Amino acid sequence: MRLLGGVERLLSEKYWEGARGFTLTEAMRVAIAAQAALVTLTLGVDAYQHVKAIVVHPSTVVVRTPRPGPVPGTFDDSPIELIGEAHGRQGPVILAWDAVSADIRVRGYHGRNVVIHEFVHKLDMLDGVVDGTPPLADDAARRRWKQVTDAEFDSLRSGSPDPLLRDYAATDPGEFFAVAAEVFFTRPVDLATAKPALYGIYRDFFRQDPAARRARSARAG
Ligand SMILES: [Zn+2]
Repeated sequence: MRLLGGVERLLSEKYWEGARGFTLTEAMRVAIAAQAALVTLTLGVDAYQHVKAIVVHPSTVVVRTPRPGPVPGTFDDSPIELIGEAHGRQGPVILAWDAVSADIRVRGYHGRNVVIHEFVHKLDMLDGVVDGTPPLADDAARRRWKQVTDAEFDSLRSGSPDPLLRDYAATDPGEFFAVAAEVFFTRPVDLATAKPALYGIYRDFFRQDPAARRARSARAG
């Protein structure tokens, strides 16, 4: 069982920590590891080699990280609410348990999944930059990736309503990839139907076909 092997490695090889006195139980760790391992079912959990730690807060994290302000040379440290964060290439994945458990309660079929989102940022970062393009096989694959995702991203930026991709995907190409990957894993049939080109490049990158999986399980009843 590939999935089980991946889950066991994430549980044993990563440093898991409950933040702010939060008691992180075995069941919670397994739930998070299973979702992260599903993303790399075929790629293998070595793709998370730079993830040393997974830090889980009880609920939404409010941070005041100084960041470049709207005017060059200024800084903005107003509070921002985070339900998850993938901190730098070597940094921890930070999650809010209330958001993780909300995704699990609806079996993830609403197109959102914070664990998938943050771990996909980590795959994006494998080449050192969060730009919405993970390391790909060759130039042809990179050109195809850019062509397909730029078209979808530009359409969102222009304000076209999208039934599958929430507005947050229009933030930047990195967020686009993470949000669209949530939909790829949680509403694969809808994505394959509505955006076959986007579905196709993700199927090739993740080397798995969740829509076909969903169809098989539907036939099996
Ligand atoms: Zn994000």
